[in-house]
Amino acid sequence: MKPLDALLDLLFPPRCVFCRKRLGTQGICPECEARLPRCGAVRSGGEFFSAAAAPLYYEGAVRAAVLRYKFKNRRGYAKTFSHLMASCAGEELAGQFDLIAWVPVSRRRLRKRGFDQSELLARGVAEQLGMELTPALRKRRHTGANSALEGREARAANVLGAFEARGPGLVRGRRVLLVDDIYTTGATLSECARVLLMAGAEDVVCLTLACARRVNKKEK
Ligand SMILES: [Zn+2]
Repeated sequence: MKPLDALLDLLFPPRCVFCRKRLGTQGICPECEARLPRCGAVRSGGEFFSAAAAPLYYEGAVRAAVLRYKFKNRRGYAKTFSHLMASCAGEELAGQFDLIAWVPVSRRRLRKRGFDQSELLARGVAEQLGMELTPALRKRRHTGANSALEGREARAANVLGAFEARGPGLVRGRRVLLVDDIYTTGATLSECARVLLMAGAEDVVCLTLACARRVNKKEK
């Protein structure tokens, strides 16, 4: 081990990203591995994407870990998260995409947070799957946090027109795997999928780390 790594391990011992128990390497402890709320295919579809999947439900230790990742700058969690996501994509969405893109944050959010949480997840997924990452979308304007809004209509209105396709022909004729952190109502994913379809994408399927349990409770 390099001296710097040894020092970092001493200062920040590797822990389970979910329960924060000390581990030999950062990842998931056996207890969490056995007990995490597993999701898989997301049954409730959006208007503009044809399928969605998430390895986990957004609750308990998963929610706490996502909040630490986004708001306490635990960007190292992306490695463990994207590993779970890549396995899930392999199980639920195999053969349904040939390009990986993500839901970008606004420049203002990027400045404040210092990183784009969904880009890091997408980058990890792309590495695991041996595919390239395509920066297919840009956020045109800052939107207030969708998590502060109740209901799908309010959330859809908040993000309408907030994204645009980058570069001509990036997604034309391609089937896109669109990556984001959380599937709450699907409003943001659906709006991004709409923009990708308008830019010529053949199809869009979505992959998030976690999904709100109520999304899968809805009868379709
Ligand atoms: Zn754990």
